[in-house]
Amino acid sequence: MIDLHSHTTASDGSCIPEDLIRQAVDLGLEALAITDHDTLDGYDEALPFAKAAGLDLVCGIELSTKFRGRTVHLLGYFLQQMPTQDFRDWLRIGQESRRDRNRRLVERLQSLGVDITLAEVQAIGRTQTGRPHFARIMLQKGYVSSLQQAFDEFLDCSAIGYVERQEAKIEEGIQRILDAGGLPSLAHPVRVAENEVRGKHEEMITAMAELGLRAVEVYHSDHGPREVARYRGIAQRLQLEMTGGSDFHGDVKPKIRLGHGRDGNLNIPRTVLDRLRQVRVPAGVGHSFGLS
Ligand code: AMP
Ligand code: FE
Ligand code: FE
Ligand code: ZN
Repeated sequence: MIDLHSHTTASDGSCIPEDLIRQAVDLGLEALAITDHDTLDGYDEALPFAKAAGLDLVCGIELSTKFRGRTVHLLGYFLQQMPTQDFRDWLRIGQESRRDRNRRLVERLQSLGVDITLAEVQAIGRTQTGRPHFARIMLQKGYVSSLQQAFDEFLDCSAIGYVERQEAKIEEGIQRILDAGGLPSLAHPVRVAENEVRGKHEEMITAMAELGLRAVEVYHSDHGPREVARYRGIAQRLQLEMTGGSDFHGDVKPKIRLGHGRDGNLNIPRTVLDRLRQVRVPAGVGHSFGLS
């Protein structure tokens, strides 16, 4: 069993990198990818622990990108080479825009009567402070009675507290990953067309494939047998690779278990990763974007 989608405290997971490696080893996982949101810090920190434990750790990332005006999560897997310095520099720019959004989000929530400070959220979110951390503070302080309520009433893009964040377009995310020697895969595709008509998935994934997408996350905690069959079919028709993982976040999403997913709906074989490792993604195949 392998798991190619997991989060640490470097983004919005609850496990520090060392503990995540320990859990993966205890579980007997044959390979684990750390795919924190918009940062490689969790992977970097976990690598020495994985090496010491003999765990096959894959370098990954989950970028927030824009596709047709909505946020779409894009996974990147670095299977043959480590991400380039250019890619790391680009991520730093994204972190600055996140900090800027967080400052504005604090102001917005304060104007709505929520007593919250940047220092409080940053204390739990560190470099990758995001809306889930805002939700936790709001829950702690009793403004809401659940994390979901914090999103529904304040933080979701349809809610009163929402503040826009600068996000790269999906085509830039795809090309950045390719340029850095990675394999771009569409994360949890079921969420992309949630509110759209049935049958829209294939059209959307086709458009992404034309932008350079190379794989689809067929196996995921949010995918039942129907979704797995649907995305496997789409991947085969579009000649895309298949990836999969639990999207483990620790206590933040307690129903999702590392490797096993939701209610044990996952059991991804090692051959999925073996196959991905055979795909050649020559660095620099995409057209380069300036860093300005
Ligand atoms: P941020 O990167 O700060 O914009 O936060 C994005 C994260 O917030 C996502 O990865 C989700 O974990 C979470 N999130 C966004 N919208 C919702 C929602 N409506 N309900 C629950 N969680 C959400
Ligand atoms: Fe997350
Ligand atoms: Fe995601
Ligand atoms: Zn994720």
